[in-house]
Amino acid sequence: MIHRLLYSPGETGAPVQTAPRCYRGPADLPDCVVEVECPSWCAEDHAVPVAPGVPRFLDDDFHVSAPITVVPPPEVHGSDVSLLPQLTARLMAHTIEGGVMLGAASIHMELGTSVDAYADLDVAGADDVLRQLREYVVGLQQMRDALAAVQKVAS
Ligand SMILES: [Zn+2]
Repeated sequence: MIHRLLYSPGETGAPVQTAPRCYRGPADLPDCVVEVECPSWCAEDHAVPVAPGVPRFLDDDFHVSAPITVVPPPEVHGSDVSLLPQLTARLMAHTIEGGVMLGAASIHMELGTSVDAYADLDVAGADDVLRQLREYVVGLQQMRDALAAVQKVAS
């Protein structure tokens, strides 16, 4: 990842995307412009403002992968409540800190619908979650097969 502060007083125009995925735009420092190159896994469009009229400071932003999610199907006994993703994971790294110390990158795993229920995983943490998910899949398959036997549904 390339990240350079370009001291260009007064130059804070709209970020310009150049190949392959490089953004140039305002920094959260007076009269500074920052240039950030995304890692191959980043799916974030850093040119989109935080909100209308609120610029995105590229020196305080995050590279974010496309999410992977687990969304249970609707409840089978009458509830019409749409369920939100119950398990979401994204690979993330700070635009500047991530480039300086890639070890700061993490897998951001959100649990349920609460913004407070999340964990930032390192490699060991991801290995632990993967081990638990493999056990979960085995257990879920066993439950599914037991349910199918009770309901006499073909496997
Ligand atoms: Zn990025």
